[in-house]
Amino acid sequence: MSKLISKNARVLCSGETIMMINDEANRQKSLGKKVINGSIGMLFDEYGRLVSFQIVNEYLINNINESSRKYDSITGSEAYKEAVKNWLFRGVDFKNTNYSCVGTMGATGALALVNKTYVSKGDKILVPSIRWSNYDSIALENETDVMEYNLIKDDKFDMEDFKTQVMNSCKLYSKAVIIINDPCQNPTGYTLSESEWDEILSYLSEVSKIYSIVLIDDVAYINFKENSYQSIFQKFVDVVNDNFIITICFSSSKSLQLYGLRGGALIGLTSNNELKEEFENATKTYCRSVWSSPNHLVTNVMTHVFSDEDATKQLLDSLDQYRLMLKARADLFCKEAKECGVDTLPYLGGFFIFIKTPHNLETQKKLMELGIFLVPMWGGLRLSLASITLKEIKGLAKVIQLCL
Ligand code: PLP
Repeated sequence: MSKLISKNARVLCSGETIMMINDEANRQKSLGKKVINGSIGMLFDEYGRLVSFQIVNEYLINNINESSRKYDSITGSEAYKEAVKNWLFRGVDFKNTNYSCVGTMGATGALALVNKTYVSKGDKILVPSIRWSNYDSIALENETDVMEYNLIKDDKFDMEDFKTQVMNSCKLYSKAVIIINDPCQNPTGYTLSESEWDEILSYLSEVSKIYSIVLIDDVAYINFKENSYQSIFQKFVDVVNDNFIITICFSSSKSLQLYGLRGGALIGLTSNNELKEEFENATKTYCRSVWSSPNHLVTNVMTHVFSDEDATKQLLDSLDQYRLMLKARADLFCKEAKECGVDTLPYLGGFFIFIKTPHNLETQKKLMELGIFLVPMWGGLRLSLASITLKEIKGLAKVIQLCL
């Protein structure tokens, strides 16, 4: 390192690989080469166009106005916070549980914010063994580190290892800060069942009698789950206590198809006013010092679409249509993968499917030579079903199998 760089600067770790592979795929495409780009978590339709929602587009175009050009409040307006609550927690009975909401720069901003707020320098945050690689960069930037729980064993959530690692963290730090990415986990497509959630929450509740627990549910793909997540959120609201808080990272990149506009939210569920104030004060300070206030155009769109009944219905209908598009892609890939012996982890929904192979780097290189772009990670390859068409999927499993 040169003498110019500060001691606090961090060198980005694996979080950047996905972007590099995507850039290379796009570069080759621009040179006229035939490319299948299964590397990036953005949703494209069957014509290869980035999916966009009419109701969102209309509101965006009509609202590049004075309100959107003005600074938003540091954590977003009250109307925005209520709209996010309406979108995510419709039908959830909050009883005495507090709801706090902070407008962020995407779910990435929410994750950085929650890391900064609850993980002390030098401590470790618990993450799944197979994960979105940016969790590592976020921890590194915060001068923290990650420790892993094994995600899947025998095609199910590895409950035993999860409990062991939570306890290990508690013994080391007197608390556990845990990321779960659910539903439609990136990169596996796994979604926890109701009974798996019951077991996780009852264990954490038990542990919280002695140690502090911060559970972070990264719900970036929530709107691509087949059934509503309301019953899981109800469990969250019911379980929090004075030593156990739950935070939720939401992304408007996926739910509104506004990747580049960087909208999102960090939600805090707390059982008492002291914890609520602590959450709100600490997160506000970080927001003010890093991005100052959220993107007002996006918070305005979210406020409108998430609170207006007709707009909400239109968006839900569009999301449903694209969820079915993804399902058709997944069904075809899984059928062909099974026929030719390509081993995947259980896929239950969302943008990605995970191909198991110990030779992921070699296979990725061979595929790249054929113009097929996948991301090597954690003992396998991530294929984005979101970014390729049904036509491109036909026969793809066989090509992958020949490169394994
Ligand atoms: N969490 C997961 C699991 C993701 O896959 C992504 C993006 O790909 C994010 C969070 C961040 O999304 P954004 O910052 O665009 O809202």
